[in-house]
Amino acid sequence: MSEPVLSRFLRLIAFDTQSSETSGLHPSTPGQKVLADALASEFRAMGVSCRVTEQACLYAEIPATEGLENLPALGLIAHLDTSDAVSGKDVRASVVTWEGGDIPLGKSGLTVRPPDRMKGMRIVVTDGTTLLGADDKAGIAEICTFCERILEEKRPHGPLKIAFTPDEEIGEGTLFFDYAGFGAKFAYTLDGGAIGGIEYENFHAARAKVCVSGLSAHPGGAKGRMFNAQTAAMEFHSLLPPAEVPEHTSGREGFYHLCAMKGDVSYAELDYLLRTFDSDDMENRKNLLLSAASFLNKKYKREAFRVEIADQYRNMREFIEKVPFLTEHAFEAMKRAGVTPFTSLIRGGTDGAKLSRNGLPCPNLCTGGYGAHSRTEFACVEEMESCVQILLNLADVFREHAVRA
Ligand SMILES: [Zn+2]
Repeated sequence: MSEPVLSRFLRLIAFDTQSSETSGLHPSTPGQKVLADALASEFRAMGVSCRVTEQACLYAEIPATEGLENLPALGLIAHLDTSDAVSGKDVRASVVTWEGGDIPLGKSGLTVRPPDRMKGMRIVVTDGTTLLGADDKAGIAEICTFCERILEEKRPHGPLKIAFTPDEEIGEGTLFFDYAGFGAKFAYTLDGGAIGGIEYENFHAARAKVCVSGLSAHPGGAKGRMFNAQTAAMEFHSLLPPAEVPEHTSGREGFYHLCAMKGDVSYAELDYLLRTFDSDDMENRKNLLLSAASFLNKKYKREAFRVEIADQYRNMREFIEKVPFLTEHAFEAMKRAGVTPFTSLIRGGTDGAKLSRNGLPCPNLCTGGYGAHSRTEFACVEEMESCVQILLNLADVFREHAVRA
């Protein structure tokens, strides 16, 4: 008998795999390698061949059922690490059958209120001192359970390719990704939230550094001589649209986010994140920064402002739209599991966006985890079970379509 997704999930969240933006190592923390090795042993015990790289990326593959070797390979990807925002060490989870009302999290004073549709379902919560780690150990548990079940039930399937990547939360999950070795031409990441969710649109992202050169002078004798870089930087910022900031935008709206500033009289720096779903709009945003700088340079008759812009990641929509069957098949797999599919926007980046840009189109599927990166993170057991069923159905849908084609 295959292991229930819940007990597998509870085993996985006991591993501390918080990634670190500052260690400079690959993987950024040793716990991720420990988890990858443990998962490799589990795969081998199932009879699935796999390897773990030095950078803690796990690749596993299940060969196609005899006669289906020519089917296109189906790739499934999840990440090993947890957010560096909240500790994931010594997670003390409990499973509550929810009958309504707030679920208290240990003695922390925090509570969780699941959506009404989860009444009577089992909810996995923390004690309020750590995150849960459903992001993304729910995804890993679901993929492993799927593998175990497809083998046990002897369901016919095409080639299956699995990857568990490190350091997704610090944006380095695809740094060492072995595209050729992975062996699939498309994949799904299991790194989403609410059941039924499919995500294939994320931000276009760029970073802009505005450098302001000032001129220092003794304040007592500065008249007509000092050029204060800090006040000049504030003037620059005042030229940007005040409503287009993270705290005033949602849905499809983009923003300029002043994420850091520093300075003194002689030099100041403003760091902006530019975000939008539309590539033309991204160009407009970059141009606004450049024209604000040139306006102020003219106004003060000095080359005080300089803008450096670097692209970060792209909206994956343009890559996913070229392979529409990926979303169509996921919709079909969900409907067969009795789940109503819906698409949602990722107001951020994802490893799937980088994979898609590098030629591995990769929409993101739900996991049944909620409240990621927080102490109120929780997971719904019945939804995690549905996610396993969705993966089984997905393998069926791919087989049926390929056989028909
Ligand atoms: Zn995640």
